Amino acid sequence: MKCSKCGKEAVYHARYEGKYYCHKHFNEMVEKKVKQTVRKYRMIKRGERIVVGVSGGKDSVVLLHLLAKLRKRFPFEIVAITIDEGIEGYRPPSVEIAKKNAELLGIEHHVYSFKEYIGFTLDETVQIMGSFERGERVGACSYCGVWRRWLLNYAAQDVGADKLAIGLNLDDEAQVFLMNIMRGDIARLGRTGPYYEVIHKDLVPRIKPLREVPEKEIVLYAVLNNIEVDFSECPYAVEAFRAEIRDWLNEMEEKHPGTKYQILRSYDKLFPILARHYAKRELNRCKICGQPTTGEICKACQFKLRVQKKAKELGLTFRVK
Ligand code: SF4
Ligand code: ZN
Repeated sequence: MKCSKCGKEAVYHARYEGKYYCHKHFNEMVEKKVKQTVRKYRMIKRGERIVVGVSGGKDSVVLLHLLAKLRKRFPFEIVAITIDEGIEGYRPPSVEIAKKNAELLGIEHHVYSFKEYIGFTLDETVQIMGSFERGERVGACSYCGVWRRWLLNYAAQDVGADKLAIGLNLDDEAQVFLMNIMRGDIARLGRTGPYYEVIHKDLVPRIKPLREVPEKEIVLYAVLNNIEVDFSECPYAVEAFRAEIRDWLNEMEEKHPGTKYQILRSYDKLFPILARHYAKRELNRCKICGQPTTGEICKACQFKLRVQKKAKELGLTFRVK
């Protein structure tokens, strides 16, 4: 097939718009989407310091490259941070990849580890807590998600960031939207839209410049442009519900190209209404760590106390870094 723009050999067929792209025009199309998303939601202002959470996986590494390109058009600062959860065999190689990419782009890079800032690696947490708590399955992802959010915000403040950019793509956004609808968690949808206003002065606003880019295009962008990314999967990844939604969405996209974009558009139309009702929350400071929280003690500190208590009961001690 030939590129719809220049007639050269095509490398990609965007079924949702019925167009074919050669390598050059595919790059331009992806870069333009990111530029337009950033502009549409005023995600980045001139001179701001943007911290990018880079895990080493395809989304965050491609995000780093795309923001580095965008920076050439209007000036802003970029700092990369990697959260090391302490997952043996999986995280060390991806931390290296994140580091290499930052170096290649001449971007300052910092690593923040669970071990140093929480006290336990994720592997140790799993060892202490086991897979079951109070009869319920509380997986590694519950601890990991809460601690990662906490540490990302801490790290973003630590490096003096104005905004925190995360590599969520179109597929992620559509999946999260559907999952929250199916769980009846509308309140969450009012707090995780296309942009985050300043909710609290200690909560670094999050931006998602890749939210209009399908996952497929991110993978292809990395491959075509020889960007080194880590494609391996976390050994704890067992979120069955999300996997079902992902498979169903892919099937729908196959049958009805453009479904994912339509879901995103619905979300964008609903977001301002939902945000009016749910975004504004009174936030206190956590009595232990001082980070913003709705209660008295933030979830990250609650989890940490829970693990500390269980480790003590079991008589386990862990080397503190
Ligand atoms: Fe953490 Fe779960 Fe993601 Fe693994 S799959 S990095 S444990 S949230
Ligand atoms: Zn806390």
